[in-house]
Amino acid sequence: MSLTKRIILAMVLGIVVGAVIHLIPGLDESHTLYRVVVSGLFDAVGQMFISSLMLLVVPLVFVSLVCGSATLGADSRMGIMALKTLGFYLLTTALAITLAITLATLLGPGKSVHLAAPEVTGSTNVSAPSIKDTLINMIPSNPIGAMAEGNMLQVIVFALLLGIAISRTGGEPSRYLLEFFEHLNAAVLKLVMLVMELAPYGVFCLLAKLFSELGWSTLVDLGFYFAVVLTALLLHGLGVYSLLLKILTGLNPITFLRKMQPVLLFAFTTASSNATIPVTLRTVEQELGIDNKVASFTVPLGATVNMDGTSIMQGVATVFIAQVYGIDIGITGYLMVVLTATLASVGTAGIPSVGLVTLAMVLQQAGLPVEGIAMIIGVDRLLDMVRTSVNVTGDALVSTVVADSEGLLDRDRFKAPRGPI
Ligand code: ASP
Repeated sequence: MSLTKRIILAMVLGIVVGAVIHLIPGLDESHTLYRVVVSGLFDAVGQMFISSLMLLVVPLVFVSLVCGSATLGADSRMGIMALKTLGFYLLTTALAITLAITLATLLGPGKSVHLAAPEVTGSTNVSAPSIKDTLINMIPSNPIGAMAEGNMLQVIVFALLLGIAISRTGGEPSRYLLEFFEHLNAAVLKLVMLVMELAPYGVFCLLAKLFSELGWSTLVDLGFYFAVVLTALLLHGLGVYSLLLKILTGLNPITFLRKMQPVLLFAFTTASSNATIPVTLRTVEQELGIDNKVASFTVPLGATVNMDGTSIMQGVATVFIAQVYGIDIGITGYLMVVLTATLASVGTAGIPSVGLVTLAMVLQQAGLPVEGIAMIIGVDRLLDMVRTSVNVTGDALVSTVVADSEGLLDRDRFKAPRGPI
């Protein structure tokens, strides 16, 4: 059985086992069996799986990007490629949030809701990061510190600079250094494969634990909100991306989505674009045929900067909260939402639930009560899994478009049947 099939099987089994445990009366935190199996075994294996993915992220991004920028060379098209990538990331995010706000305004998920809106205390103070701070924070004053903290933007900047410096050193030293990083890259990719082999166990435990704990009652109350976010995510992830891929590259969107399957599965179970980077990078290079010079830059950058799925949730949540509180924020308010949601996603790591934190900034900027978040927390974990899948698909899509426009996409490899994974 292929690895993808084994992961899907583990996912289904995990959901079923978790849901059954949740339904058995009396089987909860107070029961020894629950504490040993769910809080003990499932939690431990699940967390070990996430950690083993996370441990790959910094070495892989760093080594791979040094190789990429060193081979691209100093007088290359790096600057143009970076601008193009950023431009596409911003464009897809703006499209995503506009789609979400339009859909939510048309359907009105908050209009018929009979939830008590939390009282506004007015004391919460969260502010969106300024452009100036975001720019300053991109430069690492201590590269080792940046790696230790997992600050991806800073790691990206350092790796780019080192790669350029290596290419400029010239002669033997340049060649040796590049060879060293290329060998190291091959070894880290082997490590990625090893961890991926263990994925079915990790996926099973993560989902079994999550579904044992999940309270379904909130899903009933927030069913309409949930459905609107899900619809917008599917429209964007399947519809908008397919259209963009077809129009901008002429490639087949079905092939793209089929090859993206393992990435979607990892994003769905871990709810973290960052933890999924190793799988995304491997897939876009080996399955979609994107050259390492493009992928090593666009994928880690996208995991941090590009969060289309997250901004969709934020768009719908803003409209929902405005409707529940009966506040009309007008066109300027929504433009503010588009701007803040896009900016807030830059510089925030792709980790579980980070979208809720940045939602606080978005609401504050739009003049809506931050307390409203309390209403949607109940269903956010499930939505997080789906929106993370959209986030990583967006990263891969933009990488494909940029690589194609730079002549760095192996179209034959893209069209070839999927590998053994
Ligand atoms: N979990 C998402 C990601 O990693 C971010 C979020 O929406 O909370 O991409």
